[in-house]
Amino acid sequence: MKENNNKFETNAIRTQLKRSENLEHSVPLYLTSSFVFEDAEDMRASFAEEKERNIYSRYSNPNSSEFIEKVCQMEGAENGFAFASGMAAVFSTLAALLNSGDHILSARSIFGSTHSLFNNFFPKWNIDHSYFKIDELETIESLITPNTKILYAETPTNPGVDVLDLEELGKIAKRNNLILIIDNCFATPYLQQPIKFGADLVIHSGTKLMDGQGRVLAGITVGSAELMDKVYRFSRITGPALSPFNAWVLSKSLETLAVRVDRHCENALKLAEYLEGNENINWVKYPFLKSHPKYEIAKKQMKAGGCVVAFEVKGGLEAGREFFDSIKLLSLSANLGDSRTIVTHPASTTHSKLSVKERAAVGISDGMVRISVGLEHIDDIIADIEQALG
Ligand SMILES: *Cc1c(COP(=O)(O)O)cnc(C)c1O
Repeated sequence: MKENNNKFETNAIRTQLKRSENLEHSVPLYLTSSFVFEDAEDMRASFAEEKERNIYSRYSNPNSSEFIEKVCQMEGAENGFAFASGMAAVFSTLAALLNSGDHILSARSIFGSTHSLFNNFFPKWNIDHSYFKIDELETIESLITPNTKILYAETPTNPGVDVLDLEELGKIAKRNNLILIIDNCFATPYLQQPIKFGADLVIHSGTKLMDGQGRVLAGITVGSAELMDKVYRFSRITGPALSPFNAWVLSKSLETLAVRVDRHCENALKLAEYLEGNENINWVKYPFLKSHPKYEIAKKQMKAGGCVVAFEVKGGLEAGREFFDSIKLLSLSANLGDSRTIVTHPASTTHSKLSVKERAAVGISDGMVRISVGLEHIDDIIADIEQALG
């Protein structure tokens, strides 16, 4: 990353690659799999990594480099690599850093596919894990083994919008010489920069608020140059790179990240406040509601509360399903961070294969609803939810 004193919004727009002689104003798309060389010496020096240049789009491409540079600016990171999806970022980052016999210590409330990766696939390579409870950070150190290498967490969590204290996690990682990796997807770098609190690497699914319009899959990991070099070496061989087209879409999306996320947060807080007074629900959770158990921590580490609100409909599974079926305007889907408001009922959909007890362990009750609040007018969002609750 090149350091400068510009504000977040300015770098989101003005971080650009050198333009070709056509001096395009809008960012051009480099839809090319490979790059040409001047002569044998140029090619030799490029392959020997004596010069920094594009060789092949599995390694690097101007569009992905621009996207990476923007996210590095936003997160305060030294370097990064862009992936075809958030899960490609999670898998490649961990696989690049871990050896057979290593151990991951992770928060229990993590994205479902990350959970499956830890439970169903890493054991094949003798990579073990343990989980700590998100409201019991004081137990983390008792779970560290001599093989523990990575401390892994997400905040705010999905779907329960719980908040973990990043400063505390940073201290624990430092004290015990662990690599702290934070999935910052729910907050975006506009609301929260985990590196400031001691994270070594930050992972994003670009599919969510970064694109923000439900068009492309993408992922990115940024952080220390030393660790990113390992991630890069692994990824340029194994091939999870982001396509130039999707990188181009993402770079444009980031130009409007700040204004979009501001409105997402404004709408989400208004919806959360409305729900707090509604007699048909048991509880509502949103990081910037004073009633959130970690409100003070959320205020300390986040600029605003994000786009996701969770609440519990009175009456359990049946009432949850009924609410879901009564939604008219908003979308029933599993995605989040879209300009369209999305309603999810985890107990009957994404987490229906788990038992009630297993769901409870990851913070999901039968009547719980997750809403990714979009950019429609807040009055229309509330009206649809109000009629569905009624
Ligand atoms: C969606 C998501 C991912 C995975 O991203 P994909 O782009 O769907 O692969 C990882 N972590 C979190 C928190 C997510 O919400």
